[in-house]
Amino acid sequence: MDEFAEITQHLLRSSPDAMVVIDDRGKIRFANDTVTDLFGYTPAQLLNQSIDILVPERLRSRHGRHITGFFLEPRNREMGAAITELFARRADGSEFAAGIRLAPFRIGSKLLVAAAVRDNTERQRINEALVAAREEAVRANRAKSRFLATASHDLRQPLQTIKLLNAAMSRLAGESELKTFLDHQAQAIESTTRLLNALLDISRLESGSIEPQCVAVPLPELLEELRSEFDSVARARGLRLTVKASRLSVRTDRVLFHQLLQNILGNAFKYTDEGGVTIDCQHESGSLTIRIADTGIGIPPDKLERIFDEYYQVDTHGAKRMGVGLGLAIVKEVARLLGFKVTITSAVGKCTQVNIDIPAEYVSVADPAAVAATMMSSPAELSRAVSRIMLVEDNDSVRLATQLFLQLEGFEIRGASSFAEALRMLPSLRAGDLIVADFHLDSSHSGLDVLTQARVLTGAEVPAVILSGDLPSVVRSIAKPIPGVRFLGKPVDTNALLEAIRELTANSSYS
Ligand code: ADP
Repeated sequence: MDEFAEITQHLLRSSPDAMVVIDDRGKIRFANDTVTDLFGYTPAQLLNQSIDILVPERLRSRHGRHITGFFLEPRNREMGAAITELFARRADGSEFAAGIRLAPFRIGSKLLVAAAVRDNTERQRINEALVAAREEAVRANRAKSRFLATASHDLRQPLQTIKLLNAAMSRLAGESELKTFLDHQAQAIESTTRLLNALLDISRLESGSIEPQCVAVPLPELLEELRSEFDSVARARGLRLTVKASRLSVRTDRVLFHQLLQNILGNAFKYTDEGGVTIDCQHESGSLTIRIADTGIGIPPDKLERIFDEYYQVDTHGAKRMGVGLGLAIVKEVARLLGFKVTITSAVGKCTQVNIDIPAEYVSVADPAAVAATMMSSPAELSRAVSRIMLVEDNDSVRLATQLFLQLEGFEIRGASSFAEALRMLPSLRAGDLIVADFHLDSSHSGLDVLTQARVLTGAEVPAVILSGDLPSVVRSIAKPIPGVRFLGKPVDTNALLEAIRELTANSSYS
């Protein structure tokens, strides 16, 4: 026998895997020596036996079907690729997880199948451990997101109190030295608020609990909203804000879309010292690109790839660490949820441009009537001031701080600590009064319920500011805008609260 033939014979007898050959009736026509190590049978014991001898009893009928199927469509393949677990039976009746590869061949007109069998117990154990580790990691990540969401949510109430007390003390301090300290304190409160908001947003997005709710969002309306939101920031920083309007609508989740643009605009203003920020829209072959360009400090090319990572901040900004590094991570998550693509180009020391590409399927021409209606409802001039406010807030310290702050601003406050107490106060509501209420009052009542009762009782459109620690969820739960109501997130910005009160009373037909 030549060397090649000898090697072939040895290899076949003692190949690393056990080898058996069966015919189309499932009879074993060959078994090599390795079967003894794996199954405890000698090759001679297996010869002419049904293959069932190597299959656990409970799996025999399934196995029979597989054999029939294989002979109908014979090809070299892994056995049971669609079955997660394959088992074989040893001579002593014990079982092991098996990996089986099948290869058909013909001798004359006879079709035979060679099966290479190996013990997969260890591999399966590792697979199971990997699956378990992955499940554990997913579970731990969810738990982390839940913890972050709960912690940042619960921190809102005390922060709200601190914020309102700071504003109240600032007012009392006048121009004294104390005012400087209080201004520093206000800045610290501001950055804590930003951090909390960002943590809450990212943990909500990561926990996978947000389902986008898509409606047609007219761009003229949304861009106008953003303009009025950022006008004061622009003025305070001596920057220009140019918004080039578009008549298009985007079918998307309003809250998330607003948040995405808000984060990008926030960055544009944060990282620009001179010049300004421009928003414009390009509508080409159906799809839309919203461009937000600034004339700011720019981003080095080698950092562009990482700026969407959580907590990543470009360190060359040195002392200019103005955020927490979550803004663009939120943008990335929101864009993924909405099906948009966000790209950034930049020139260091010159400019940064963020492009938001929106596929044609989401873009349509805005309904002019809807746009006109929203434009009409934009802030009117302050015509008169409200003097009495009914304040409904179940958290004692938040209520007292809000009361103190609003009293110092010249309002007469009547406080209610529960839905029931608010109901008792409603009959004494006078024309011109306004309601400031927490959204979540108790398990079955919200600030909106107080408002509904107030409107039913007076037959008038009583204006209201509704505050919530979970503004996005509240806004989503409202089917359509409620006239005469402003929603603000907690911890509320004291200026935004005063602004909302002024706007509502200026626009109110209830007097
Ligand atoms: P941050 O909270 O630090 O702003 P972001 O995730 O929003 O975090 O952004 C990540 C980093 O990308 C920022 O720290 C900043 O260095 C850089 N960056 C983002 N937008 C701009 C921009 N318009 N101009 C310059 N740098 C920017």
